Amino acid sequence: MNKGNKLYEGKAKIIYQTKDKNLVIQHFKDDATAFNNLKKAKVEGKGVLNNRISEFILTNLMQSGIQTHLVRRLNMREQLIKKAEIFPIEFIVRNIATGSLTKRLGIAEGTILEKPLLEYCLKKDELNDPLISREHIFAFGWANENEIKFIDKITLRINDILSGMFRAVGIKLVDFKIEYGKAWNKDTEENEIVLADEISPDTCRLWDVKTEKKLDKDRFRKDLGNIIQAYQEVARRLGIMPEETNISEVNFGKTIPIKFKKK
Ligand code: 5GP
Repeated sequence: MNKGNKLYEGKAKIIYQTKDKNLVIQHFKDDATAFNNLKKAKVEGKGVLNNRISEFILTNLMQSGIQTHLVRRLNMREQLIKKAEIFPIEFIVRNIATGSLTKRLGIAEGTILEKPLLEYCLKKDELNDPLISREHIFAFGWANENEIKFIDKITLRINDILSGMFRAVGIKLVDFKIEYGKAWNKDTEENEIVLADEISPDTCRLWDVKTEKKLDKDRFRKDLGNIIQAYQEVARRLGIMPEETNISEVNFGKTIPIKFKKK
């Protein structure tokens, strides 16, 4: 599949056109950012790992009947995906209180939630992705009631599937963020809602069941070090390893110096 022009460049990924107007290529960069771009670094090998981990997770979800944008992985850093019109909403599911929930509401860190908590945030960097209500979504037409009803149901199903998948390899799924879009289904010849973006240690909080060691992007956010080793550990436990032929490109196991850009 030939790569065409760059359509969009985000913080961690680039989207390229293809000859097919309904398909694009998603390229995973090594760039890590946090706190709305205030902290930036290159984490060598992260893009390769997230590409593999996200492919593995989305493939598993598709096997459970969940529609996603993934067509197939193309190489170490790229996936062929359906072009989707993304809802401007981040859907966050929390099983254990941490992060912005504890800061915002003063809930004790580590509180186990009685049932999964679903939150919506507006995808708007300039405003720091603010928390919004369903009423905001409907008032401003970011999605309609049927779409949100459908997405909520799938999102909680994804939480069940992923919680089980991670628990089986000794990892607690603490929380995660997902995005959805509308993409063309060539079989039904209709637009349908698909899970988009990625699911990886960049977008989830993953804690080791026994030690509660963080195996996710909080290692970068909180300067805990050994970021790539943690992502590699997630990949190893899920039974995913990179192609041996290209392993030299990845520098697994090395401690990578991180540079901070402070404002
Ligand atoms: P929090 O709201 O506590 O910062 O994040 C909740 C969960 O959503 C965490 O797993 C976090 O990684 C994920 N998340 C929220 N917003 C973003 C975002 O803008 N980018 C990424 N990669 N993950 C996010």
